[in-house]
Amino acid sequence: MRIEENYSLEKYNTFHIPVKTRWFMEYSNEEELERILRDEYFQECLSLHIGSGSNLLFINDFNGIILHSTIKGIDVLEETEDSVLLHVGAAEKWDEVVAYAVSQGWGGIENLSLIPGEAGAAAIQNIGAYGVEAKDVIETVEAYNQLTFEKRIFTNEECKYGYRSSFFKNEHNDPYIVTYINIRLNKKPQFLVNYGNLKEELAGSEPTLQRVRDAVIAVRRRKLPDPEELGNAGSFFMNPVIPIKRFEKLKVQYPEIPSWPAGEGMIKIPAGWLIEQCGFKGKSHGPVGVYEKQALVLVNLGGARGDEIALVAESIRTAVNDRFGIELMPEVKYVG
Ligand SMILES: Cc1cc2nc3c(=O)[nH]c(=O)nc-3n(C[C@H](O)[C@H](O)[C@H](O)COP(=O)(O)OP(=O)(O)OC[C@H]3O[C@@H](n4cnc5c(N)ncnc54)[C@H](O)[C@@H]3O)c2cc1C
Repeated sequence: MRIEENYSLEKYNTFHIPVKTRWFMEYSNEEELERILRDEYFQECLSLHIGSGSNLLFINDFNGIILHSTIKGIDVLEETEDSVLLHVGAAEKWDEVVAYAVSQGWGGIENLSLIPGEAGAAAIQNIGAYGVEAKDVIETVEAYNQLTFEKRIFTNEECKYGYRSSFFKNEHNDPYIVTYINIRLNKKPQFLVNYGNLKEELAGSEPTLQRVRDAVIAVRRRKLPDPEELGNAGSFFMNPVIPIKRFEKLKVQYPEIPSWPAGEGMIKIPAGWLIEQCGFKGKSHGPVGVYEKQALVLVNLGGARGDEIALVAESIRTAVNDRFGIELMPEVKYVG
């Protein structure tokens, strides 16, 4: 176990905001985690479990305990003629899990290549890209209840997955810490390449796991800034989902509005398009920028504070609401 006091989180958030945490605790197995959870001081303190901080916006220093796992490992739990069940430590880098699966010829997560963050968070966020979501492969999630200290194994159904949401993200539920995820992958992969620019990227070549992964990586690298070079947390807002009747009215006013179906009677609209229409794309506001290739991504141009980023996000929300009557909800979690 590692414990640090007044510790900088600059390397633990992809906006690279140099906030400090009062305490930073890193555990390497479930026994250590249980010891921390049962500790009276821990129970009295404010605490937050983080992964790679690629979906977090720290507004202030954190006056409490930041918890981080180093539980790693990718093991085959079960293998059949058609599939494998993998047991993955929550601290495994998600993209390394994808790279490993692809190298073994196991399909199901290749479209989720290059998404930053750790495996545990992938199951909490229900990460998604190019028509695939983590929920499509998650069989069970192993997690500790922070109030009762009990370990529980959640079935996929119990995780209550939705668009970027899960049981674990619902603030009314008991707080859980994910230690392992178990994902089922296909030994006879079926490819999903009709989404975004994947098909063009494959340029007519027969899809293989590696080719699809390479295509996803190439498209993402062109579209999204590398957080190591330009601090960001990916899509800052979720794509709004509105009733079809409201969408039809908007379409009369904005015939070119892009959309895709989102379940019965609902339509999803790309938040990036709405933001672009309001004139934010490529603009900077002091040290905060709206990425020139994707208006949904806010970037730290150098030295930005969390509250400065939050202020720009708020002005975007207001502008989109005033113009389209649509309320954008942050995908990024504000801390502090
Ligand atoms: C350039 C870029 C591109 C991105 N593209 C995508 C994309 O295509 N699709 C997509 O879905 N997301 C995308 N994201 C967002 C981000 O990668 C995901 O949300 C990711 O799952 C966050 O993982 P993390 O380990 O960084 O979690 P963090 O940001 O550290 O935490 C996210 C949440 O999970 C909680 N958490 C983390 N680990 C645990 C744990 N073990 N137990 C309990 N709670 C935990 C945290 O408290 C927090 O609420 C992108 C981000 C960036 C920077």
